[in-house]
Amino acid sequence: MGDVIVVGAGVVGLTTAWELCCRGISVVVIDPAPAMGASRAAAGMLAPAGEVKFQQAALYPLMKASAAEYSEFVGRLEAAVGIAAGYRRSETLLVAADRADLAELEALQTVQEAQSMPVERMSTRAARALEPALSPRISGAVRAPGDHQIDPRRLATALQVGVEASGSTFVRDSVRSVSVASRGDHSVQTASGEAISAPAVVLAAGLGLADIAGCSSSLQLPLRPVYGDILRTQLPADAPQLLERTVRGVVNGAPVYLVPREDGEIVIGATSREDFRPAPSAGGVWRLLDDARRLVPGVADLEFVEALARARPGTPDDLPYVGQVRAPSGEPVRGLFVSTGHFRHGVLLAPLAARLVSSLIAGDLPATGADASHLAAMDPHRHSAVDSSGAVARSRHERSSR
Ligand SMILES: Cc1cc2nc3c(=O)[nH]c(=O)nc-3n(C[C@H](O)[C@H](O)[C@H](O)COP(=O)(O)OP(=O)(O)OC[C@H]3O[C@@H](n4cnc5c(N)ncnc54)[C@H](O)[C@@H]3O)c2cc1C
Repeated sequence: MGDVIVVGAGVVGLTTAWELCCRGISVVVIDPAPAMGASRAAAGMLAPAGEVKFQQAALYPLMKASAAEYSEFVGRLEAAVGIAAGYRRSETLLVAADRADLAELEALQTVQEAQSMPVERMSTRAARALEPALSPRISGAVRAPGDHQIDPRRLATALQVGVEASGSTFVRDSVRSVSVASRGDHSVQTASGEAISAPAVVLAAGLGLADIAGCSSSLQLPLRPVYGDILRTQLPADAPQLLERTVRGVVNGAPVYLVPREDGEIVIGATSREDFRPAPSAGGVWRLLDDARRLVPGVADLEFVEALARARPGTPDDLPYVGQVRAPSGEPVRGLFVSTGHFRHGVLLAPLAARLVSSLIAGDLPATGADASHLAAMDPHRHSAVDSSGAVARSRHERSSR
């Protein structure tokens, strides 16, 4: 049916499928509800600088590398499908609501600069000259010219069209288990009882991976759902643009962002909660609107369109799991790959993860260099480590959590 089965059609699975199609490799993408998981909620910030948090040093090179690939990736996709993916190179302003928030912003700026990320401290006056809708009460700003954005819903549509136009297929079904063959094709069994076979399988089902049996006895992926509430608002028909740039703020220590699209949509996000409640939280919606209005008072005049909650696929060290699956012996399992756990950065990291997985499948990835370092950082076995003697070692996560 295809050369590769991709399980999961979120932004990660779709981008991987598209990259494979670009290499002339045919794909079967299996998902009961394409692009309706975490990718449906994502704001689409491509923000290596704005996403910097303390003590995430291993993540910064991945974010920078994938951000650097975005322009070429989107250009190639849009040229192939003739659909705009909503990619905007308009920069990001990081703003502080009060002096305590400013201290946090300045502390993060030192990390951003240490990572050679382009950032520039600005006075409130200078920030308001760029974005007059900002409140005069903010206490300062940092400009991040390299932090861009894309509309994940448009991106997902473009990717689906691109994959189908390449002759690959979508199967609307849920994968229950994977049967790994020592020779010949692997196969997946779906909820409707179908068995689909191919020489290679990419497991890109986000949090859903935990429910798929048979991936490998040596692969433990401690994924956890980190829910986020996020709002879609719209400028009234006759209103001028409120913002040109993405505004990310810290209000009383809590993050909030406003992402303006060209069509007048303004996305306001996002909360972060680990309470296993899938519905949007009233308190979260209230907090986001209140904090957003504090930074940009004109938010009160926007039309309210949607409140949505989805779970981010979180990992213990905030790094994704990307690479080839290994057997308990430590040997690579031929044709079995994983790409999940992209947590808060799946839209940003998708091009890098997709390129690396498709290069692994095509067998043309250099053993050394930046890509090898990226794969080492994202090793899917790092929390279920298989040592060189073949024994399943205690995971790094377990060790560090003692
Ligand atoms: C509120 C919010 C805001 C965010 N903002 C940003 C942002 O600005 N920038 C950024 O980079 N990231 C952002 N993220 C993170 C980003 O959304 C995720 O990292 C990304 O969507 C993960 O993509 P994915 O394809 O791995 O997962 P998903 O989008 O969840 O896709 C997984 C897919 O797998 C399918 N699936 C599950 N189980 C099975 C199965 N058994 N068989 C077949 N298919 C299956 C699901 O139906 C789903 O379509 C945000 C997330 C949230 C929640």
